[in-house]
Amino acid sequence: MKNYNKYRGLSCYNLLIRPHRIKTWNLKMYWHKTPYWLKALYPGLSWHKSRNRKTLYLTFDDGPIPIVTEYVLEQLHQHDAKATFFCVGDNIAKHPHVFQKVIEQGHSIGNHTFNHINGWQTEDEMYCQNIAQCQKRIDQSYQRNLRPLFRPPYGKITRRQARHLKKYYEIIMWDVLSGDFDTDLDHEICLEKTISATRNGSIVVFHDSFKAEKTLRYCLPKFLSYFNERGYSFDAL
Ligand SMILES: [Zn+2]
Repeated sequence: MKNYNKYRGLSCYNLLIRPHRIKTWNLKMYWHKTPYWLKALYPGLSWHKSRNRKTLYLTFDDGPIPIVTEYVLEQLHQHDAKATFFCVGDNIAKHPHVFQKVIEQGHSIGNHTFNHINGWQTEDEMYCQNIAQCQKRIDQSYQRNLRPLFRPPYGKITRRQARHLKKYYEIIMWDVLSGDFDTDLDHEICLEKTISATRNGSIVVFHDSFKAEKTLRYCLPKFLSYFNERGYSFDAL
């Protein structure tokens, strides 16, 4: 069998020291719009694309799953939009037919680890192996000429993990977080905050998960229509 760790350059055996932990920063809160200083802390990661074009990059994390991912696909199709799905390897294994649908409809696929693990709480070697396991699953059905995409679950990745992984992956963060996962957030406020934080080239995070489903069903079609009417297009990364 192919050694995918080696294949992706992800043999982290030289990284045996535990990663730095940022213990004081517990993400109970979050920003709809990513602050500039956070972007500056992690140079070399992608936070947004060109500000010169009216193009937006929607991303959907944590799928693929039946019903919710299929709902997202339908909405994207209706609005002539392409997007990027950051998939959890375990979900791909459980729902290969949904994964196949995402690919067939021309969207991009990114790696979101096999088990949705937190980089701050995982040893470097184990973290990279989990990512390689997910990439192996992705590569069985999806071909990409560009570098593979990776997004750390919870956005939690140590600077050292990022330094290593960015040699092999384009690490995609975001400049707009919809907050669709926040079940305490009013749907209309979620929509307003997401729209007002979005501008040319924004990378926007939504979730194709059961937790986010209710908010997503309210916000996504309105978000797509709002920017469609204003001449924006939606591209895959
Ligand atoms: Zn996630």
